Amino acid sequence: MAVIGFIGLGNMGGPMAANLVTAGHEVHGFDLVPAALEAATAAGVTVADSAAAAVRDAEFVITMLPSGKHVLGLYADLLAAAKADALFIDSSTIDVADARQAAEAAATAGFPALDAPVSGGVGGAAAGTLTFMVGGGDADFERAKPVLDIMGGKVIHCGQAGAGQAAKICNNMLLGITMIGTCEAFVLGEKLGLTHRALFDVMAVSSGQSWSVTTYAPVPEVVPASPANRDYQPGFAVPLMLKDLDLAKNAAEANAVYTELGKQAAELYRRFSENGGSGLDFSAIINDIRERSK
Ligand code: NAD
Repeated sequence: MAVIGFIGLGNMGGPMAANLVTAGHEVHGFDLVPAALEAATAAGVTVADSAAAAVRDAEFVITMLPSGKHVLGLYADLLAAAKADALFIDSSTIDVADARQAAEAAATAGFPALDAPVSGGVGGAAAGTLTFMVGGGDADFERAKPVLDIMGGKVIHCGQAGAGQAAKICNNMLLGITMIGTCEAFVLGEKLGLTHRALFDVMAVSSGQSWSVTTYAPVPEVVPASPANRDYQPGFAVPLMLKDLDLAKNAAEANAVYTELGKQAAELYRRFSENGGSGLDFSAIINDIRERSK
């Protein structure tokens, strides 16, 4: 069993660290928020006085932070404090360019590093069923895999540094687009007199099929996992979808890629977020479309 340094014990990092403890690892954790530290202590994490102290004896250093600036800001301290050959794994969702910069900073300091963002949300973090999308070298991936397997149901090696973040934002850009398209189809169906059930039964087995239809349909009482069954409580909240769409937009602009629908999806989610949607699941954008269809 390994010593694992875990920085960022929030909604995702807290339960992920708890699963590592349950699997028998010695987890040294740190967060800036006292409530996160209390919950982590209750889950069996050994709380350190600082991020640097949490990683000092660690064989694996896992970060689960809000954004790239947090990761890059902390890496300077962590790389100075870690013991030789510690493997750095950043599971935050951040810009591809920031992920590559973090990997370079680690390499310059003599440490192997992976970007390993996740999908699956807080439920997946608690259940240990996250999907990890991993960027970095083959040997480093193989070394990290047993640790990631504890927190995840699927662990996919996507390529070299930054490839995990690239896969994550491409997937989530498509998710944002398909959700808006699915909502538009259901609202149009309503206006044309179709029941949700009839349209769902067709789209779920026809060429309009996607995860946004079959698993997460934005209307109540057609699929069990849908937040529509519980007043659109998240789930995957609108600000997190907006964050990922903005990361995709940044990457598209930086690489001169024409992603018109991805950009439009970001603007629709921004407007919804600013007009009462920020506390809701991202599938609640169907209500905004209904409102504008009156
Ligand atoms: P969160 O805000 O709940 O947790 C982040 C934690 O990092 C906070 O507790 C914060 O105090 C801590 N932190 C910030 N700066 C720090 C520092 N310098 N030292 C120590 N701790 C510090 O966010 P979250 O929902 O856990 O998300 C974490 C990451 O996972 C984000 O990048 C997010 O985009 C991604 N993500 C979230 C979800 C989700 O459903 N919540 C799903 C997939 C991916």
